[in-house]
Amino acid sequence: VASLGRSQKRSAATVQYFDPSYSLYPVLIQTHGAALNPVALNKDFSLPALGELKGRGWDFNAALSYVTTPNAPSGRAYANTELEALCRKQRGVVVLDETYVDFAKENAMGLALKYPHVLVGRTFSKAYSLCYMRVGYFVGHPEIIEALQKVRDSYNVNGLGQVAALATLENLEYYRKNFRRIIASREFLSEKLAGMGFEVFPSQTNFILVRPPGFPAKTWLEKLRQQKILVRWFSAPEVSDYLRITIGAEREVEALARAVKIILVKH
Ligand SMILES: *Cc1c(COP(=O)(O)O)cnc(C)c1O
Repeated sequence: VASLGRSQKRSAATVQYFDPSYSLYPVLIQTHGAALNPVALNKDFSLPALGELKGRGWDFNAALSYVTTPNAPSGRAYANTELEALCRKQRGVVVLDETYVDFAKENAMGLALKYPHVLVGRTFSKAYSLCYMRVGYFVGHPEIIEALQKVRDSYNVNGLGQVAALATLENLEYYRKNFRRIIASREFLSEKLAGMGFEVFPSQTNFILVRPPGFPAKTWLEKLRQQKILVRWFSAPEVSDYLRITIGAEREVEALARAVKIILVKH
């Protein structure tokens, strides 16, 4: 690092990600003393075109870049062609965070296998309901995996977590059936809400981001809560007009649709 120029030094300490995205990135980046570089997504939460990224402050030399695909809280997935174009131009390590990939049409595993500076990150925490077991993994070139071994905590993933993760793999059919149910419920609810005047972003995750009609999103949060239905509202300005609704079991999705109808009729 001593022989690098000033901007190269800055890049060598920079971890960047698109905003809005996973809220823990900035927290963890700061904990590790790196420089944060959040870069705004387009208003509809799509990725900025490659040619526009530099103008938005994206650093093609940053040490580490996170791309969450599909993303949270937008639910939006980026196409492999778009991700590949970004990876090809990027000098530092790129992590494609595929936490929600089981609910998506495409996955980017091929990019981790093709490019030595690209890692795909996955977890058993969401689609496999094992968040309390703390099991996740990276797939990538043996050289980066080896480098990760050097810097990671010396204690391994806990034994019960490993047993639980292996048990899910022995029952993939059960999980895949659940993914299909959740995707079907997501499409059902998306259509239902769109029919009641909501703007619904196309989702490839187990939640949808919607802009509700009639009154502010925060008021909707409270009105739904009065009917014992919990959804998420985020105060950050890019998403404060929206609600994030997690797709539950069929009867929960139907209960939400009924509650929305009641709120609209009373209004
Ligand atoms: C939940 C989540 C994670 C973290 O998963 P863990 O394996 O439980 O640490 C990472 N990225 C995104 C986008 C998430 O939503």
